[in-house]
Amino acid sequence: MAIISSKQSDADEGADKPVQEAVHKKAAAAKKAELSAKKTDLLQSEAKPAELSRHEEGLRPSAISDYIGQKALKEVLLIAIQAAKSRQEPLDHLLLYGPPGLGKTTMALILAQEMEVDCKITTAPALERPRDIAGLLVNLKAGDVLFIDEIHRLSRVTEEILYPAMEDARLDITIGKGQSARTRSIPLQPFTLVGATTRVGALASPLRDRFGLVQRLRFYEIDELTQIVLRTADVLKTEVAIDGAEEIARRARGTPRIANRLLRRVRDYVQVKQLGAIDQAIAAEALTLFSVDPCGLDWTDRRLLTLMIENFNGGPVGLDTMAASTGEDPQTIEEVYEPYLLQIGYLQRTPRGRIVTPAACRHLGYEAIHSRFALPDAPLFNLMSSAEDR
Ligand code: ADP
Repeated sequence: MAIISSKQSDADEGADKPVQEAVHKKAAAAKKAELSAKKTDLLQSEAKPAELSRHEEGLRPSAISDYIGQKALKEVLLIAIQAAKSRQEPLDHLLLYGPPGLGKTTMALILAQEMEVDCKITTAPALERPRDIAGLLVNLKAGDVLFIDEIHRLSRVTEEILYPAMEDARLDITIGKGQSARTRSIPLQPFTLVGATTRVGALASPLRDRFGLVQRLRFYEIDELTQIVLRTADVLKTEVAIDGAEEIARRARGTPRIANRLLRRVRDYVQVKQLGAIDQAIAAEALTLFSVDPCGLDWTDRRLLTLMIENFNGGPVGLDTMAASTGEDPQTIEEVYEPYLLQIGYLQRTPRGRIVTPAACRHLGYEAIHSRFALPDAPLFNLMSSAEDR
């Protein structure tokens, strides 16, 4: 199976010979940045490149029966698999959308396994030139699954090549330039495209319309994540009590990738401190040390909410204003931080901007402000003007 990663390594620091003091300052700033990155890395739902190969591959469930949760998705796919198998046809093209780490890649691999075909994995930024996608398409065998991650980032040319390939199993290539340009069609083996995206709205509609099945993945419930933690602990041969697994699940932001990552950190803690099986107290102690609070909020989440409360009286605040005041980029706030805060009811989206809910105020110890306005389930008042919601 081919795994093509498009993630880039961090930019170089550029050490040009400044005076010694400046060097020290820069080193201190870099250390600080590294520390704050470490703090928040643990709860990032995107996989780090090293994590993909070293940790995740061994933990992926390989049969649909081992895929925990996502009941509605599994039901739809089981029917599609059965129908495709009985007609001896490839599965319909499938678009999976939802935040990172919820199991889109895992599901594509399981589908290939269930259909007894191969799965090629790639990501849209790796398909910049026409020959990148053409090379993949011509090498697919009948019924194979082609998984394209971050499919909303496909270039226009790649999309145009995909359309006839998805519809008629045909690769149209243009030979020559200008007036002498001719188009030649090469027949392809029928295949299944599984596209994954965190931003379904950013997908070009002709592409979206070519998927027979469009399915959303949801955040996981605590009991589902508990099962995932117990299963991973089993694979990692780590002893975890049910209440320990539950504690990790509660802090995992509804995301299996984060649950598995937190489990690995707690396992390190137990090993170094020479403790026994992971129980609730040990898990809580370890995760508090790693700055993961009981609701799964990290430093950036808390800072985001605190700024909204303190500087904007709870909102409404526009996305760009939130980004400017926290120093994060708007897309990261929208795709990484916000979905979970919306899910747990700590943030609400309104046409005028984002607002912090009373539940979030209570969690952060702002009961006083909340009761001052005496609005039990309504957002706090906005006393300051804010940018429009995007
Ligand atoms: P995505 O492609 O949505 O970013 P992945 O499929 O790579 O997410 O899943 C991330 C990790 O979470 C995988 O290593 C896998 O072990 C685990 N995982 C995801 N979904 C499930 C699930 N439903 N049951 C068990 N483990 C899961």
